[in-house]
Amino acid sequence: MIADSTQERIPRYRGVSYARPIDAAKQAVPIVDLADRLCGPGGLRRVGKEWAGRCPLSDHEDRTPSFTVNAEKNVFFCHGCLRGGDVVELARLVWGHDERDAHVAAAYLLMEFGFEVPQQPPAWFRKQERQHHTRAAIEETRRNIVRRRLFRHLILPLLDTIEDEQEREQELRRAWYEFKRVAA
Ligand SMILES: [Zn+2]
Repeated sequence: MIADSTQERIPRYRGVSYARPIDAAKQAVPIVDLADRLCGPGGLRRVGKEWAGRCPLSDHEDRTPSFTVNAEKNVFFCHGCLRGGDVVELARLVWGHDERDAHVAAAYLLMEFGFEVPQQPPAWFRKQERQHHTRAAIEETRRNIVRRRLFRHLILPLLDTIEDEQEREQELRRAWYEFKRVAA
């Protein structure tokens, strides 16, 4: 079986302290080892130069072995869902990370196979942090718009039925306060 190949390959990897996790993971983890782990014992079998098995991607219900791994080229390709790529791409798809979070999948992949995750230069973390704040702000704005539109469509028509102006104002404030908490 190919399960032992990780052990043989460990000495070949020399951690580069400032290498990106993606490069490090590609260098350190052979795709057959990840595929072997994902497909389970006996899940992969040799077909010519490649390994074949049922696709391990959760959104592909593979009844035939459409998933192939080329150990020599260190890539995979699924003839059923037409996805393919290197070891990091496989990890990313399997663990459901967004494309822009490929480095996170790479870091998990390194940890999963017992390698150290390379350190990133401080500037990289600052950039991640800034992007995180921007994304959070966009997300919050989007949520607020949805919330206001829902409130207008679902709640305001009910308040319109209150004839007393003061009571309506009061009810409006209370409703918005409650709505913001529920529709967070
Ligand atoms: Zn597939």
